[in-house]
Amino acid sequence: MAYTDQFLNAIQKHLLFHKIIEPGDDITNRNLKNNIIDFQDKAGIYTDGIIGPETLWEIQFPYVMSTEKMNWVRCEADKINGIEGFDNFILREDAARQYNLLKQEIRDRGGKITSSGGKRSLTAGVNNHRSAKSMHYAGLALDLSINSGFFSPKTDPFVMVKNKGTNPKSYWQVYCRAQGGELIEIEATYWDSWGSGKDKKIKIKDRFIDFTATAEKYGFHPISPRRGYLRSTNKQYLSSEWWHFQANPLLIPEFSQFGIELLKIEDYSPEFIRMQNRSIWGNRKSIFRKNWW
Ligand SMILES: [Zn+2]
Repeated sequence: MAYTDQFLNAIQKHLLFHKIIEPGDDITNRNLKNNIIDFQDKAGIYTDGIIGPETLWEIQFPYVMSTEKMNWVRCEADKINGIEGFDNFILREDAARQYNLLKQEIRDRGGKITSSGGKRSLTAGVNNHRSAKSMHYAGLALDLSINSGFFSPKTDPFVMVKNKGTNPKSYWQVYCRAQGGELIEIEATYWDSWGSGKDKKIKIKDRFIDFTATAEKYGFHPISPRRGYLRSTNKQYLSSEWWHFQANPLLIPEFSQFGIELLKIEDYSPEFIRMQNRSIWGNRKSIFRKNWW
């Protein structure tokens, strides 16, 4: 298996922390497996040299508990008259930094950035529109106002285009209406009402910023709609997820774990998370790009 440099750097940093290796030691090739076996032996877990969920947890948990925590940061959003939404929401410090850059660019180009929230409380309920492993719990995801697009594409601040092709990079391409945007014609997907269950298309010509591309530039990536939207009839609006963007680049594929990302935040101790929400704590070892997004 070929590991990425980002993954190997993270493993190296943690093995140094655990004093399994010394600065300058090569951890690639055969050494990596031996180093992992040494670590597993020291940690008192099964010594198979495989970097699975248990090993990743044992490697990261003591590290995250001994390093400085990140703060929750309150971020500004644009509240638009007549459209439900928030004028502020909360993200984890590192995601907030990226969001502020995104917001600045959108505003500089004459667009608005709406909000239905960021951080989700650990005690918030889970349903078929809300994942038990949501990045919102770690303050790594934001939702544009779910009311600021999809219903009135001729005037809404955001307009969605369904990406074509069998394997599109993202299901939705979200456009932000803006004075400083490009004059383009797009084929908007929309519907009349929350309960209509069936979408329509309309061609719209106006000035738009490609919001999805701009968000990605600052490290916020879209997700796919949930099953409730993807079915052909009785589509559920709340499963469309056009509004959701998450900070994937702040995570390391096959290394970062849900519980560790929560523990990086002020006030979030193992006891607190477990007490607030057992199912979140139960999912703590889920691995980014394996069984966590
Ligand atoms: Zn969301």
